[in-house]
Amino acid sequence: MRPLLLAVALLPLAAQAHDEHEHGSLGKHEHGVAQLNVALDGKTLELEMDSPAMNFVGFEHAATSDADKATVVAVQAQLKQPLQLLALPASAKCSVQSVELSSPLFGDAPKAEEDHDHADGDHDEHEGHHHADIDAHYLLTCAQPQDLASLDFSPLFKRFPATQKIQVQLIGPSGQQGAELTAANPTLNF
Ligand SMILES: [Zn+2]
Repeated sequence: MRPLLLAVALLPLAAQAHDEHEHGSLGKHEHGVAQLNVALDGKTLELEMDSPAMNFVGFEHAATSDADKATVVAVQAQLKQPLQLLALPASAKCSVQSVELSSPLFGDAPKAEEDHDHADGDHDEHEGHHHADIDAHYLLTCAQPQDLASLDFSPLFKRFPATQKIQVQLIGPSGQQGAELTAANPTLNF
């Protein structure tokens, strides 16, 4: 049985995780679909991607076998290199300023996620399967942002073929727009 104090201490975390999942600008957990916010502000290009872990890793449970652990490490390493997943015009001269990855699979607060699964019913859990997301937050600086006519996600679709669709919200010089990217249509135009 869980000590009461521990349960109480975990509650705010669980509530917070729930909030972000349900009410964030990023949508629901659907295998094959990732959500992406892109914002270009001056020379700063910001990307925020929220994806079911399934799309990148191929599973959503905590890695225990050596093979699963190796897969998680490889995916983490890949996601830390956004310029290998996303083709930008070279003339825009973009460089990566910061990368933040978070996921229960990377050892981030798995307990809160489990609590949350048991605590509420209106969730898309099916029995025996705990869903997990991977969030990636990238900040890039582009010396020539006017050359950023498009972002090409074909490397990401090639590297992670389980990602079938990326739903994009883009905020750029010409305002806000939505887009849906697929392997057949991988280019986001500003
Ligand atoms: Zn899932």
